[in-house]
Amino acid sequence: MDVLTERAHELAAAGMLPAFVYDLGALDVHVAAVREALGEVELYYAVKANPDPQLLRVLARHVDGWEVASGGELAHVRGLFPDMPLALGGPGKTDAELTAPVHRLHVESPGELERLLASGARADVLLRVNLEVPIEGASLAMGGGATPFGMDPGGVAECAAMLRGQERVRLRGVHAHLASGLHAPQLLELAQAVLEYARELGVAEINLGGGMAVSYDDPGELFDWVAYGEGLAKLRRRGERLRIEPGRSLTVYCGRYATRVIDVKRVHGRLFAIVAGGTHHLRTPATKGHDQPVVPGAAGEPVTIAGQLCTPKDLLAREVPITLRRGDVVEFAMAGAYAWNISHHDFLMHPHPAFSYVRGGRAGSC
Ligand SMILES: *Cc1c(COP(=O)(O)O)cnc(C)c1O
Repeated sequence: MDVLTERAHELAAAGMLPAFVYDLGALDVHVAAVREALGEVELYYAVKANPDPQLLRVLARHVDGWEVASGGELAHVRGLFPDMPLALGGPGKTDAELTAPVHRLHVESPGELERLLASGARADVLLRVNLEVPIEGASLAMGGGATPFGMDPGGVAECAAMLRGQERVRLRGVHAHLASGLHAPQLLELAQAVLEYARELGVAEINLGGGMAVSYDDPGELFDWVAYGEGLAKLRRRGERLRIEPGRSLTVYCGRYATRVIDVKRVHGRLFAIVAGGTHHLRTPATKGHDQPVVPGAAGEPVTIAGQLCTPKDLLAREVPITLRRGDVVEFAMAGAYAWNISHHDFLMHPHPAFSYVRGGRAGSC
């Protein structure tokens, strides 16, 4: 039994499930290894993946800064780490967001830049480019074609022209977050395209975004940070400053969603276990259309695990080959990112989960 399972059973005995249980020690070990593999590449954490302060405090020991995507995230992170660099991005920034003092502002359109220049505020900007490059195998594509994110090279050229002849808003470089769910070789190909583009534009600071792949089918299949770090070191030319801003791949592994079985039943031949909570706590399987990985238990007839919501979409995992009885504890792995914080908490007005933190340590222990 690992530390997270132990904690889940303690919480069960105390009547405190469902709960999110985080292994801060494992997060520490994991992010330290990522940092090590990156060499000179700067590492920011994309806070939207999971803004839990306890996780952020562990991350703060290893990251160079934070990528925030709203005024809310900005205030949250600044309150916790007043002196750490922040990069603010995201489409649809309000005037208050555009003019907030940050280390880097990621400009998403000529219209945004026009408002920024008109405000008279000072800023150091990266222009977010959406390059027309083939993106294969991505789970989400933010670039490579017509999307609301960033600008095509025409838009970037327009911005570069607007920035000439003034000094308040300084062009520092380019930002590209083109897709998510990519493996190291594919991300390196994109990085090469972005770097070539930045060199043509004449800028030397390049934020290559996040989107490193994780596998919900096989939680043990980790992104190859060593290959990625080595690849970036090869691509980088002297004087160039590279930065990445992953979210999911840093925090997804350190969290589990633990709950208990309320009912087991067979309907038209199919076996169901209904658990406390559901996708209003852990929306990830519903949004991504996957089965949330279940921490293995005693083998048994495949059972579909559903939550308490009155919608057929409230499925956490289908046909899981384990034995579940009323009262059993079930743990869903890979619930440390885009889980609680993307879920529709108040649908049906069930109670919110508990949050619990342990200090394990082995990177793979979640
Ligand atoms: C969401 C996002 C990230 C992080 O993406 P992950 O897939 O969680 O690594 C990084 N940069 C931008 C601009 C984003 O929108």
